[in-house]
Amino acid sequence: MEKEYKVKIFTGIRPTGDLTIANYLGAIKPIVDMAEERDINPLVFVADMHALTDSEPSVAKKFTHEVVADYLALGLDPERTTIFIQSAIAPQILTLMSYLSRHITVAELLRVPALKDKLKKNAREETANALLFLYPVLMAADILIQRPEYVPVGEDQESHLEVARLLAKRFNARYGDVFPPPKTYQMKSLRILSLKGKGKMSKSVPEGAIFLTDNIESAVQKIKKAVTSVEGKMTDGLLSNIIIAKELSKNENDKMRIDEIIAEHMSGKKVMGEFKKALANSVSGFLTDFQARREKIIRNPETIKSILKRGAEIAAKNADETMALVEKAMFSR
Ligand code: ATP
Ligand code: MG
Repeated sequence: MEKEYKVKIFTGIRPTGDLTIANYLGAIKPIVDMAEERDINPLVFVADMHALTDSEPSVAKKFTHEVVADYLALGLDPERTTIFIQSAIAPQILTLMSYLSRHITVAELLRVPALKDKLKKNAREETANALLFLYPVLMAADILIQRPEYVPVGEDQESHLEVARLLAKRFNARYGDVFPPPKTYQMKSLRILSLKGKGKMSKSVPEGAIFLTDNIESAVQKIKKAVTSVEGKMTDGLLSNIIIAKELSKNENDKMRIDEIIAEHMSGKKVMGEFKKALANSVSGFLTDFQARREKIIRNPETIKSILKRGAEIAAKNADETMALVEKAMFSR
């Protein structure tokens, strides 16, 4: 009956502060490209309420605005994307979260893999606040309230989407079809490695990472110290650096030049110095442009405000429609 998708693609970003070029290439660029290539208009939200799990409200608030500026400067086009802040529809989300919470058990929540992981790594059951425990239900509420068809996820988030589907199914079985099950949108998996050659590039391991906020000189220094490979050999680290160099370069000539250097390398020539220069050139060109765009965006808080206002209106309209269906299904029988 009422069960229909409202949004084609729905995705969230966590306001965690400084991003790396790996975050850009792996998570942000695919959304930017998607919005550019096809007529989808992704709905993107900044998960400021999720950030309260481990950040003080003032910190979450600061990073929320930073992250919006980052995304706009990285090319997310406000004409082709709808952006809103999660807390703009806090009452609707929290109401749905409490209704959904009735349909999952305490034991089931403790088994959600992403939660178990976090409890193993940097939180403990004895001291973690209960918001961490409710995280999967909050995320399910975020998603289901917008009734999206697809949610793009990296592999670490798949278990949360599972919870959203499970809760949708249980709610529908109990009260009638309200939530169309959200489908996984498989992102091209891209794993940028640390410049130090070991493990992936992560913002929590700054030595091997290039941050979007790095000044050009220090980014170039990091690249100078990056591990390379002996002549004639292709390694995972070199492959990852080639991807960075090509993806961040602005023109076809530079990309072709990189291919030439690598062909020479594979034929046994000593050209890694030259490759690093090309890599440094791509990265510094990208960072310079990004930082200039971001500067300009930050100087225009009114523009950001109006983008978020329009986003909040659309998100609230979807949320109100969903909550009307939810409450009709639950209470008018
Ligand atoms: P942390 O060290 O705090 O885990 P992170 O750099 O791994 O930080 P996350 O916040 O865990 O970043 O992930 C943000 C997004 O960036 C995710 O969608 C993730 O898939 C993507 N991402 C993170 N690291 C990489 C990487 N090395 N290559 C490609 N994509 C990445
Ligand atoms: Mg990570």
